[in-house]
Amino acid sequence: MKQIAIVSGKGGTGKTTLSSSLGSLLKSTILADCDVDASNLNLMFKTQINERYEYFGGKKAVIDQDKCDKCGICKDVCRFEAINFENNVYKIDPYACEGCKACVISCPTNAIKLVESLSGEYFYSTSENKEIAHANLNPGEETSGGLVAEVRKLAIEKGKQLKKDVILIDGSPGIGCPATSSIAATYFVIIVTEPTSSGLHDLKRIIETVRHFKRDFAVVINKYDINEEISGKIEKFCQSENIEILGKIPFDETVEKSILEMNPVVNYKNSKAAKAIIKIYEKLKEKIL
Ligand code: SF4
Ligand code: SF4
Repeated sequence: MKQIAIVSGKGGTGKTTLSSSLGSLLKSTILADCDVDASNLNLMFKTQINERYEYFGGKKAVIDQDKCDKCGICKDVCRFEAINFENNVYKIDPYACEGCKACVISCPTNAIKLVESLSGEYFYSTSENKEIAHANLNPGEETSGGLVAEVRKLAIEKGKQLKKDVILIDGSPGIGCPATSSIAATYFVIIVTEPTSSGLHDLKRIIETVRHFKRDFAVVINKYDINEEISGKIEKFCQSENIEILGKIPFDETVEKSILEMNPVVNYKNSKAAKAIIKIYEKLKEKIL
């Protein structure tokens, strides 16, 4: 099974548009939606949840009020301002607590301990012809590379059982821990960029990250015709760095329609975007199949 990741230097570049369309075209594929902050690939394939798992991403402090003598030391040592004094009680804000343990160590009455905190859930979902591993991070939780790793592990396990050829990963955007968890140990990476004012800067950052992991990769320019000047700069940069442009997708109002109708744009056969994505698919097939 080959793992292909679709990533971008920032969110909103059309990564899921490409992932859902390639996921639709590549028949022997299981999908892994690693964009755990904004998971929506399952909606595009109208899947039902078959399996659900809890994800405990970290630890949070809790105070045993029976042991607390209200000295206030914990509030003073917490540099995340996660401890408040309200109604004559010291309380920990679980959204602010980083689990650093400083309060646990400092409490003179051993009233504080760290407990596992439920950070989100991950799922295995299917429709008639598509299988997806995906996740939801709880509100207020920091985006987690650990949750991304669980989604990938689940996709690998199910992909092996179903004898799939490819795992297609819709990666977390950016260059942080969830993004690197989406990229590590993949066979090939597609970087999606757009010709916006920060597009080239974001592209350079994600290229640096992918190179750090020594992955083979190529670039797709989405909505390349909304600013041909910046698109030209992106192409020039890629040429100078010997980076392959796997394809260029034109701006196409059908993409918006496909999102509203929750149907991968590649299924709108006569659309400009679908035609461009089919060309990308043909080139990708040569690389991975
Ligand atoms: S340090 Fe311990 S005893 Fe002091 S206020 Fe905090 S929880 Fe209570
Ligand atoms: S574990 Fe760290 S962040 Fe959490 S309340 Fe204690 S000192 Fe603050």
